[in-house]
Amino acid sequence: MYTCGPTVYSHAHIGNFRAYIFEDLLQRHLESRGFKVERVMNLTDVDDKTIRGSRDANLPLREFTAPFKQAFFQDVDTLQIKRAEAYPAATEDRFLKDMILMIEKLIALGLAYQAEDKSVYFRINRFPEYGHLAHFDLSELRSTGRVKSDEYDKEHVGDFALWKAWDDEDGDVWWESPWGRGRPGWHIECSAMATALLGEELDLHCGGVDNIFPHHEAEIAQSEGCSGKQFVRYWLHCAHLLVDGQKMSKSLGNFYTLRDVLAKGYSGREVRYALIRVHYRAPLNFTWEGMEEARQALTRIDEWLRRLREAAAKADAAEQINDDKFGAALDDDLNISAALGHLFEQIRESNRELDAGIAPARAKGLLEWWQRINQVLAFAAEEEKLPQEIAQLVEERQQARLARDWRKSDELRQQLQARGWEVRDTAEGPVVTRRLSTSA
Ligand SMILES: [Zn+2]
Repeated sequence: MYTCGPTVYSHAHIGNFRAYIFEDLLQRHLESRGFKVERVMNLTDVDDKTIRGSRDANLPLREFTAPFKQAFFQDVDTLQIKRAEAYPAATEDRFLKDMILMIEKLIALGLAYQAEDKSVYFRINRFPEYGHLAHFDLSELRSTGRVKSDEYDKEHVGDFALWKAWDDEDGDVWWESPWGRGRPGWHIECSAMATALLGEELDLHCGGVDNIFPHHEAEIAQSEGCSGKQFVRYWLHCAHLLVDGQKMSKSLGNFYTLRDVLAKGYSGREVRYALIRVHYRAPLNFTWEGMEEARQALTRIDEWLRRLREAAAKADAAEQINDDKFGAALDDDLNISAALGHLFEQIRESNRELDAGIAPARAKGLLEWWQRINQVLAFAAEEEKLPQEIAQLVEERQQARLARDWRKSDELRQQLQARGWEVRDTAEGPVVTRRLSTSA
């Protein structure tokens, strides 16, 4: 499974993470069905944006991109996204060699040419399948009016760069090649690294719908042009993420990185819930009410689990729960909304059983059922790690209660509430949860 990764010139935004979470859901579901998944995700660490960023920051390219790479992995962990087997970066020597070899082969086959501007382009007229994935006709690409001056160097306006010749803007970012100094194009990066790590034929290739054209069309043309084999058996593309019904953009002020959302007091698993819950081929509208709904849904799950654990405490054996509706819904093109629907139906039903006094073995069985499902959902963190400040307030309140200082204990409860936390006293000690802004 090959998944197009981030360009490391800034922090990834929640639209990027919607795609990465959908890919994680796919991987985890396949694994729950017994498949062994080997996944690769590339890191684009050289392109126009990274070069511009490093120039503006007055840093060498590698130093400029390093912190964004690091931040990306932190975000991946925050969202419980499984790490891929490999994260190849475009600037690694071994992959640059592969890219150059691939371009040489394409030239030898007549599928690529070096133009006047010294860059090397793919000759799309020689690859009749170009445009099939995106369902469009090559003739639509034929330019009628004026084109940018550098476009005159190409044989066809749709020909895309495999190797970009060095120019002043690139500064000290260049590599030697048979065509002179330059850098690889974005598309060849994915073809070469996917082939190097996973072979010429992939089972699955994912990305966002934005990637279909030209990026994935170009990957097919390059890879199949070289190998003569079918590059990818199944393409899965994730639809757009909207914010308040609009396309996310910096100018509209509705552009959010994961860090922006966390800074508003939401946890990684709340963001994961909000981004996973809509079918990947449907647009997802991100709103703050949606974040509150995610919080509520997780609180319901937490509360259900707490009750089940209490009820299961004295169980020896666990009753086998034979309910595969959740998995069956995901078998159907990852129908996550139906799968979550089954989960909440199960919660509703077993809450009724809990009210009536459930058998301990059944409670234990339901916990095991949840554990199987949660291998896929990864909402984990049943015991969410409390921020240190909150943990300390809870501890102080516990001390006050032991000293029967009810006034102080109430004061501390209010302080916790003001910080967005609810504390409830149970037989096993205080239970601390996120406070819901609605009166649910
Ligand atoms: Zn790619």
